[in-house]
Amino acid sequence: MEDCIFCKIVAGEIPCHKVYEDELVLAFLDISQVTPGHTLVIPKQHVTDIFAYEDDLAGQVFARIPKIARAMEQAFPDMKGLNIVNNNRPLAYQSVFHSHFHLIPRYHKEDGFGLTFTNHQADYDAESLGQIASKLSNQLS
Ligand code: AMP
Ligand code: ZN
Repeated sequence: MEDCIFCKIVAGEIPCHKVYEDELVLAFLDISQVTPGHTLVIPKQHVTDIFAYEDDLAGQVFARIPKIARAMEQAFPDMKGLNIVNNNRPLAYQSVFHSHFHLIPRYHKEDGFGLTFTNHQADYDAESLGQIASKLSNQLS
């Protein structure tokens, strides 16, 4: 896609530090290196975000991630954990609109990496959770 920085990386028009490549997927170092080894996994084909995936391609992209995760573990013996992050649309912090999965190795609790989930369990009961689940499941049946 024209004007897509990640399509330009796939086409070799912009350089990257390649980690893995096959016919469907490219993995390369994220320029921001939130932690050492921070890698992006992308489909070579332009897909804007999670909402736009064909099911098969989504499966094929994700199928590569455990292999890359295990390679990280081998390459970085100090790595003690791994966050996989996928931002979709600007409100959710997507800034490059070619789908990508961040693989962020974790070495310490203080890695300059913040991810907090607020627990609102006390605001819900079985009935309200049931209503929410029904809204979703009705769309999936
Ligand atoms: P997101 O905010 O989830 O859309 O993440 C986009 C990521 O792409 C950011 O972490 C950027 O550091 C990264 N990025 C942008 N341009 C490049 C580039 N030319 N090479 C490598 N990573 C890039
Ligand atoms: Zn693209």
